Amino acid sequence: MVPSALYASFPLMTLSAACPEDGCPTVRDNPMKRNVLIIGAGGVAHVVAHKCAQNNAQLGDIHIASRTVSKCHAIIDSIREKGSLQRPGVLQAHALDAMDVEATKFLIRATRSKIVINVGSPFLNMSVLAACIETGAAYLDTAIHEDPAKVCETPPWYANYEWKRRQACKDARVTAILGVGFDPGVVNAYARYAMDAHFDTVDSIDIIDINAGSHGRYFATNFDPEINFREFVSTVWSWEDSAWKANAMFEHRKDWDMPVTGKSTTYLTGHDEIHSMSQNLGVPNIRFWMGFSEHYINVFTVLKNLGLLSEQPVRTARGQEVVPLEVVKAVLPDPASLAPGYTGKTCIGDLIKGTKDGKPQEVLVYNTCDHEECFDEVGSQAISYTAGVPAVAAAMLIADGTWDVGGMVNVEELDPMPFIALMNQMGLVTRIRDAQGDRIVDPEQEMIAPALSKHVKYG
Ligand code: NDP
Repeated sequence: MVPSALYASFPLMTLSAACPEDGCPTVRDNPMKRNVLIIGAGGVAHVVAHKCAQNNAQLGDIHIASRTVSKCHAIIDSIREKGSLQRPGVLQAHALDAMDVEATKFLIRATRSKIVINVGSPFLNMSVLAACIETGAAYLDTAIHEDPAKVCETPPWYANYEWKRRQACKDARVTAILGVGFDPGVVNAYARYAMDAHFDTVDSIDIIDINAGSHGRYFATNFDPEINFREFVSTVWSWEDSAWKANAMFEHRKDWDMPVTGKSTTYLTGHDEIHSMSQNLGVPNIRFWMGFSEHYINVFTVLKNLGLLSEQPVRTARGQEVVPLEVVKAVLPDPASLAPGYTGKTCIGDLIKGTKDGKPQEVLVYNTCDHEECFDEVGSQAISYTAGVPAVAAAMLIADGTWDVGGMVNVEELDPMPFIALMNQMGLVTRIRDAQGDRIVDPEQEMIAPALSKHVKYG
């Protein structure tokens, strides 16, 4: 826990000190939401911080707070090295245990942050959300809340934690956008966009996540290993014929012909977005497919069968209590360290099937991202990049009021077009492949029904 005394001496920069050259006009008077507090200093936070810096004329001060403050400083050093700041401005690191709601509230107030981007561990969500509700700051995250002692709870997962605070957000007029990374996040927006623009009825949404990149290590996960493994150790929930179906990991395999990555092998996997899209979109079949190499499956299977992926503590012969999964995380490479030398591309998208004007319709809405290009731009690999950019695009849409809805929402409940348009400019370009060919989705050219379409129940 961080003593609040640490914040009592918190050096709030004045406007003129922070922006000597241009004076940063209207920062404090601006009615729009400004000043961002980023929680966490891992791979995704690194991208979020760079992208906030690239847009600090709109977003204002940038604060990075995490358990290990040296990691926040390293991100700031990287922003300075890359010259990512759009214009001179506040960029500051803080030590914070975000499980401590009072310390988090204090920091939100001390930094005058109106937007909190939570890209720490998913164990932090409910504490950070509580701090936002109590301070009035907008809240964003990129993964569903998890209790460290439990895996794979009863679906829909959002109902176990986040959605219990819906009324509290509404009462406090606090905007909370849940799961606004790539998947969950952009894939939710893709589903909504396709339904609004290209379908009368939708029968199925298959979300397909392929990483055809290579990091050159014997074994590593692309984001927090503990969270990565927790996704795969238990029941795989899919949404079939408008009901939950329990499957086993690696039970269902499917090959897809994807743009750029080509023929790609995937397995049915449980994932956050199914747990909101199934409740919000009225689509009978929603599945998530993730690409795995044979090598990943072999290593995973050995670790699991040895009990090394268990979240339950065990006692060693020396009497020490350890959680096997935490030990595995400690010996695996830090996902952020994979970025230098990572080659290849990702392709993530939604394959949607249904009807339009009485005829069968099939559409793939997708993005591809290049690991090396991400590294050149911000010093990260593509998995962190594809998760971090959408969170910042969403923050910008809150800042300018477009997505500042004053309540708790999942991404598919929001108008996807400004989001897609902004990401097109920020480095994540949306493409569509259908009977007309393969092209960029250009929101300005698309004729789409108003934001709250017939498919979506919001409000
Ligand atoms: P990392 O493990 O690299 O980073 C997590 C950060 O959270 C670390 O800096 C860690 O601090 C910090 N943290 C943990 N506990 C606390 C605490 N109590 N107080 C303050 N800080 C804390 O994860 P990633 O950056 O890879 O992922 C971040 C989030 O993004 C995760 O929730 C992940 O699931 C999600 N994600 C979402 C994706 C999407 O597309 N939607 C894709 C990829 C990731 P320390 O350094 O001290 O350990």
